[in-house]
Amino acid sequence: MAQDVVTRFAPSPTGYLHIGGARTALFNWLFSRHHGGKMLLRIEDTDRARSTQEAVDAILDGLTWLGLDWDGEPISQASRVDRHKEVVEQMLAQGKAYRCYATQEDLAAMREKARAEGRPPRYDGTWRDRDPSEAPEGVAPAIRLKAPLEGETVVDDLVQGRVTFPNKDLDDLVLMRSDGTPTYMLAVVVDDHDMGITHIIRGDDHLTNAARQTLIFQAMGWDVPVMAHIPLIHGPDGAKLSKRHGALGAEAYRAMGYLPEAMRNYLARLGWSHGDEEIMSTDDMIKWFGMEAVGKSPARFDFKKLENLNGHYMRATADAELLQHWKTCLEHIDGGQDVLAWLAEADHEATALAALPGLKERAKTLVELTESASYLWRQRPLDCDEKAANILNDEARALLSGLHETLSAVPTWEAEALEVSVKAFAEEKELKLGKVAQPLRAALTGRGTSPGIYDVLVALGREESLNRIRDQAI
Ligand code: GLU
Repeated sequence: MAQDVVTRFAPSPTGYLHIGGARTALFNWLFSRHHGGKMLLRIEDTDRARSTQEAVDAILDGLTWLGLDWDGEPISQASRVDRHKEVVEQMLAQGKAYRCYATQEDLAAMREKARAEGRPPRYDGTWRDRDPSEAPEGVAPAIRLKAPLEGETVVDDLVQGRVTFPNKDLDDLVLMRSDGTPTYMLAVVVDDHDMGITHIIRGDDHLTNAARQTLIFQAMGWDVPVMAHIPLIHGPDGAKLSKRHGALGAEAYRAMGYLPEAMRNYLARLGWSHGDEEIMSTDDMIKWFGMEAVGKSPARFDFKKLENLNGHYMRATADAELLQHWKTCLEHIDGGQDVLAWLAEADHEATALAALPGLKERAKTLVELTESASYLWRQRPLDCDEKAANILNDEARALLSGLHETLSAVPTWEAEALEVSVKAFAEEKELKLGKVAQPLRAALTGRGTSPGIYDVLVALGREESLNRIRDQAI
């Protein structure tokens, strides 16, 4: 590409970074990184009543967690209001805009008349060509764009294709309200121009805005950025995404135990594809990403797929790195602080690291992993769940007595030696391995299911393992 690519992510800070926004940010990020360009961040905070600093922080935090970085400092749209006004003045001076003195009552009457005549409610152009000397006394005007009345406005969209809007449907939009505040439509255009944005990638709910914004770009004689309007994310049933089906903030996914890398992969596949590839490293996605492979129909969010992908990434992530992600997750889940406190004690991190290979084989999320790791920090004597309590009948407890003796004699406390010894014990008692492993598992973990029993023995260490077995033995 001849020109350096500059994209932007432009969230309105009225809430957390929701999943649709996260995907928009990801597409902007992948596109700019693919082209060796930049992604800028603009906080659209002109709606002072609805914008909060907490929301700004939550959005930056969500992006950071997802591993999506931006170039330069975030730009506050509200801080640029003088520049927005300056452009409006310029448009007035150039005859591209005009002062409109219509009152709320005038506008209501216009809408009513249009409705009565079966036309869409549009501004009727009353003040478009009127001489400014006719302006009523003491009425503060709004400023409107002198939009073309005929012809059409074309948006050549990288995803939607060529979309044509008859200009008669795009009336003279307001650039500045009568209270002197610039409108959102104007601010976006001025900012995109001043920030040197070459590509606008956003949700297709902004497609009509794209036509209106194009008119403003053209009025100013500015290059119109290339547009790409991506279909929204729907639920698995094809309906608008509901909370239950995933319309949540990035922080909710973090607290549900998903890895940022899995989220990036999953979100990228929501609307974009590269052949049949399901699992793609971030580097591969950067290499392959392009708007031509973004589909036109809404992608469907599917928790099952996300879980499976997350399970894959958990298994594929090196233990030390997984431990860091786990700690991040623990900061955000109920009871996580207790686990973090346990991890901070002497040797416990090493214990957790030793247990991770066994744990990550089975868990699909870090929350599941936390639950199945809980045998590590639960205190003796262990509370048993129902399944474990059923397993630990008298017969099983008697077996544990023998096992205690056998395992006490194992020379090296390693998985292989322990396995040999447990198997020999089962053979000697003429029992299936499961008949021995089940009580052992129940005694060691207090649960009916757990990671591999030899992994558990190794992670707990000799002393704790033997103590837990003795606790349940008779
Ligand atoms: N602030 C808008 C939103 O959050 C995005 C506007 C844009 O990307 O042009 O939906």
